[in-house]
Amino acid sequence: MAEKTLDPPSGSSVTMTNIRVFDGERMTEDSAIRLRDGLIVALGGAELLEPGDEHVDGRGGTVLPGMIDAHVHLLPGSPKQAVTFGVTTVLDMFSKPDLVREATAQGAGPDAADVRSSSVGATAPGGHPSLMYAPFPYVTGPEDAEAFVADRVAEGATHLKVLYEDGKVGPMSWPSLDVPTVAALVEAAHRAGLLVAAHISTAQAAVDLLPTGVDVFAHVPFDVLTDEQIQAIVDAGVAVIATLSIADGFPGKDGAMPLLGELALKPRLGPAWSETVKAQGERWLPPEFPDFTVPSDNVRRLRAAGVPILVGTDAPNPGVVHGASVHRELQHLVAAGLDPLEALNAATARTADVFGLADRGRIRPGLRADLVLVEGRPDRYISDTQYVAAVWKQGARLDLDGYVGSADERAGLAMLREMTDRVISAFQREFDR
Ligand SMILES: [Zn+2]
Repeated sequence: MAEKTLDPPSGSSVTMTNIRVFDGERMTEDSAIRLRDGLIVALGGAELLEPGDEHVDGRGGTVLPGMIDAHVHLLPGSPKQAVTFGVTTVLDMFSKPDLVREATAQGAGPDAADVRSSSVGATAPGGHPSLMYAPFPYVTGPEDAEAFVADRVAEGATHLKVLYEDGKVGPMSWPSLDVPTVAALVEAAHRAGLLVAAHISTAQAAVDLLPTGVDVFAHVPFDVLTDEQIQAIVDAGVAVIATLSIADGFPGKDGAMPLLGELALKPRLGPAWSETVKAQGERWLPPEFPDFTVPSDNVRRLRAAGVPILVGTDAPNPGVVHGASVHRELQHLVAAGLDPLEALNAATARTADVFGLADRGRIRPGLRADLVLVEGRPDRYISDTQYVAAVWKQGARLDLDGYVGSADERAGLAMLREMTDRVISAFQREFDR
């Protein structure tokens, strides 16, 4: 589709013409974008093209701001995988400091998604997600809040993750922080300038936390929100990362894993991850699958009430893959009632606004040249986002085939295998009791 040049000579400009531009909020037909020194320098028409520019003819494709996945857990190399799917920023919601350091360094380069991280999240001793990540520092009460937040800041955290449950989560129940402890953590985090994202899985847990001042829910509740609860979330001004892709951890009626049915994503997913996802659909599964129509309906009603909905995948949950699953999440959101344009906004400008990322998420002069060129009209057919033709990270054009088969891929899969084995055997023990 576009020319093959990977590295324009430094100091030169790239001008893309013959494109439709989604600027983070609305679509403009027949546009052009000029990039220089890692930034977007102009947005306009074909007149932007100057002698000496590298010219990319977008051939009627659509350019989006690089997408933001607002809920991931890092794997080694995952920032390199995400970017090949047009995801140029990932917000990590719990990873251990060594991996955060490694991934952040990788993400600072031109060939990987930029990483923002909570580092370790705040949870009670033995609480979720001890199964995956123990040992790590716990929070025993409000008196730990100040030091816990300071330690995360020292690790480079850009936001705080807190984990809270109201004790009605099946099938397993773990110890949880109490509300006063979450309140102390939120206070300490806000003093340190960090936004707070809260893991909850029930409507009651969400409502319990509203008085604490949390900023974002890391999931939509899995049980039915009442109208009063939705109004309380609206009044508190809390945004919701939907993570509807969690449903992709279960095979569909055809027995196949949903992500593998997305044929346009397949080449970029590659054989090793495709095999892994396939095996995840053949692993031990609970006797009854959760009812995912409930969280989807919660998203529909929250959106109708005016709650900001954000795109987040919770990769690498089973069946959910860094970068690739953002395209599935967009489809889940449209199925839940968002317009395609609104879903695209939820993956770009809206997330940037909620998380204070003023330098990205939009196509506007002066912002980072993090861009995705897709073939088609994703404002009409949301699945067109899958046809990624080119990605620029801070003005540098990516090698979209750089991740599949790489050492990064092997390292990521190795860590995932190890975590999965631990989790599956624990669940199995619980069900067999
Ligand atoms: Zn998560």
